[in-house]
Amino acid sequence: MSDTYWVDGKYLKKEDVSISPLTHTFHYGLGVFEGVRSYGAEDGSVNIFRLDEHTNRLLESAKITGIDINFSYDEIFDAQIQVVKKSNLQNAYIRPLLYLGSERLGLDIDGIDSHAMVTCWEWPAYFGEDALEKGIDVMVSSFTRQFPNSLMTKSKISGGYVNGIMAHDQAKKNGYQEAVLLDTNGFVAEGSGQNIFVVKDGSLITPSLNCCLNGITRRSVLKFAEDENIDVIERNITRDELYTADELFFCGTAVEITPIRSVDKKLICNGNRGEITNLIQSLYLDTVQGKSKKYQDWLTRV
Ligand code: PMP
Repeated sequence: MSDTYWVDGKYLKKEDVSISPLTHTFHYGLGVFEGVRSYGAEDGSVNIFRLDEHTNRLLESAKITGIDINFSYDEIFDAQIQVVKKSNLQNAYIRPLLYLGSERLGLDIDGIDSHAMVTCWEWPAYFGEDALEKGIDVMVSSFTRQFPNSLMTKSKISGGYVNGIMAHDQAKKNGYQEAVLLDTNGFVAEGSGQNIFVVKDGSLITPSLNCCLNGITRRSVLKFAEDENIDVIERNITRDELYTADELFFCGTAVEITPIRSVDKKLICNGNRGEITNLIQSLYLDTVQGKSKKYQDWLTRV
């Protein structure tokens, strides 16, 4: 973990940060956060990927949940750059969090102060070193993804992650690396913390944005596909379409582009990373590492 924290406008060392056990967000989960990554480039620079989109989504999450923020877009944008700079990390995972304080517990949030913090740490390979090449084994979860009107899915709400954590934990205890959650109607929603793409007959198919997060990596994949003349269809996907996919992959800031090797023990693409997955993964990694000139405007230099 990094030693650098930005808390309510001040840069603090780890030992100087404290938080009350009565912090409202601890108890009820009403907080919102982001997961952002920086990457070292060959020229020695460090760049944050799509910081503008992540910062905007954080502010939208706050608006959706009714958390008033005491900081501007620019202040939160800059704090993310500064914590990476101060940490001296190149490949950092950056975590901004907006949370409610400890004035009072109970479900009435009126008058409870909101707080903001940003820190970062090193988080190299979400599913381990081999996963980007070899892929991962997943199961369709017995947990259903939240219905948008029970917990709004366009917002990264801290408490919403209980659903994903339970699905992920169940998958791991059953010998899989990750879970795929279905929505209330039985259509594929997403992974516990990543969006999903099916490759079928040369096209990319991904769930429309009903019950999944509007992922920033998902948006990047859609742009890559457009530029590579690969058809993309956003629609409902059934569980059996996962089984008969030509290729499958997860995408997200933490997992980057991770091939899915099997679903419910049914092998996908003979257990190999498929051609389109390979292409999208290379485009993604070249972009975030600053090797591709084409998508330079997605990078913010630290
Ligand atoms: N779905 C969920 C539930 C997530 O937590 C994440 C990670 N933020 C994603 C999808 C992928 O989103 P992004 O590409 O913006 O990281």
